[in-house]
Amino acid sequence: MLRLRRHLRAPVVRCLLGAVACASSAVGSGQDRWADVRVVGPFLCRSEFRLDQVPGVLADLGRLEMDLAGALGLKPAGQTIHVFFFRGQKSYRSYLKQFFPGVPYRRALFLKRNGVGMVFAYRSTQLGVDVRHECTHALLHATLPVVPLWLDEGLAEYFEAPPLERAFGSPHLASVRWMARLGIIPKLEKLEAIGNLDGMGPSEYRNAWAWVHFMLHGPAEARQSLWEFLADLEASTPPGYLSARLRWRLPDLKRQFANHFKRWKR
Ligand SMILES: [Zn+2]
Repeated sequence: MLRLRRHLRAPVVRCLLGAVACASSAVGSGQDRWADVRVVGPFLCRSEFRLDQVPGVLADLGRLEMDLAGALGLKPAGQTIHVFFFRGQKSYRSYLKQFFPGVPYRRALFLKRNGVGMVFAYRSTQLGVDVRHECTHALLHATLPVVPLWLDEGLAEYFEAPPLERAFGSPHLASVRWMARLGIIPKLEKLEAIGNLDGMGPSEYRNAWAWVHFMLHGPAEARQSLWEFLADLEASTPPGYLSARLRWRLPDLKRQFANHFKRWKR
């Protein structure tokens, strides 16, 4: 169920690129409705409920930018990202209907309009996951002029977990390890060829997460390839394919990938 909902939520990021909406209206109006407004790192949070009721969510948000910087070598966002917390689904839905009437309903979303990054989520048992996932997209898009789709989603899948669960606690890990034992290695080139979110199903999200995990926790050469790729994106230098970089540094890439997951234990 979680995977399905995750899959359903993600296409919004791209769907919104075509939506007609006024970012400044959404950000600036209706100040009276917010019970709590506070700044956490680069995030300006507005909430219909007091955010100290969800202290873990706020604490994770406060360190998310540093977590990305540490893992990916990215510079700080350098801009404010607006995060809107709603008390429930009804309130969330009505707000989006008012400011983004053309947007299909999703559980949480990130969008960027007129250079303004915005994240919307409502209170539920999945609030933390939703906010970390969408805010990861927001941070990436605040720093990088473009992010390959599979990498965008793979990183969001990785960072949506609470910090202490990212390395070992992902729900993707068991199936990826099981496949590695059977010698099934997801093809990175296949992910790189996906041009829109219609091509991203649950297995593509899992595989994108797996390649991100390999690059962050596997051989140093893999991490180096990722950092250089992101640095080129940041500098607007055509980066080519990450798969080609990985193969150049790790000629036995498949074996390295399989060994990483076969041996990955606490
Ligand atoms: Zn996503």
